[in-house]
Amino acid sequence: MNFEVLTLFPHSLEPIFESSIIGRAAEKGVISIKCTDIRDYTKDKHRRVDDSPYGGGYGMVMMCQPVVDCIRAVKARCEGTTRVVYMSPQGSLFNQKKAEELKEYDNLILLCGHYEGIDERIIELEVDEELSVGNYVLTGGELPAAIVVDCVSRLIDGVLPAPECYSEESLQNGLLEHPQYTRPRVFEGLAVPEVLLNGDHAKQMAWKQEQSVLRTEKKRPDLIGAKEE
Ligand code: SAM
Repeated sequence: MNFEVLTLFPHSLEPIFESSIIGRAAEKGVISIKCTDIRDYTKDKHRRVDDSPYGGGYGMVMMCQPVVDCIRAVKARCEGTTRVVYMSPQGSLFNQKKAEELKEYDNLILLCGHYEGIDERIIELEVDEELSVGNYVLTGGELPAAIVVDCVSRLIDGVLPAPECYSEESLQNGLLEHPQYTRPRVFEGLAVPEVLLNGDHAKQMAWKQEQSVLRTEKKRPDLIGAKEE
């Protein structure tokens, strides 16, 4: 899968995409992630990409021309199916189900706003969908885009060692994952549950399933019986 992140601050994202599991997957060629500087597409002689809002108000708005040209140029080099997503606090909430849906595209173009956001006509002309990472407002779409890249990447074959790494994880089946333990067996008087040490695989699976339900009821009762959003 190919991720294209359109931003005014590509350097802020590079360390994230070059690190750890995502960085290794990109190095192996299982995914590709490109960050494009929207400013490279401005036709303004002072390289401006924003202007003050019509009708007054604080802050600056990202202008149509550089953003639309940038999206179109990136789209033109994408092969296969492409989805253009604008990261926005006004979008629908990004979740695991949405990640599953987005992983089916060959290309995901993630547009990051900044300042007061982007000219509405960009959304009308070029955006397929707006996604929010939560009911709060950030200074830019870079961190939200990184969240989407990370979450969708984990679902791509070859990024994690085995599909079980994500299929048994919290939220994937509408439940939270069971508690996890590693060595030592006892830490400051707290022992690892006996069932995990006795080698009985069937019992361990039953325990994990039971714990999964119990902790979902305790920590996220809203998920129990909840319809998929
Ligand atoms: N004026 C905009 C509004 O009220 O809807 C908010 C602009 S925000 C300060 C600047 C940029 O950050 C947005 O264009 C968007 O790309 C990004 N952003 C902020 N909060 C976000 C969130 N919760 N989810 C996704 N993107 C967000």
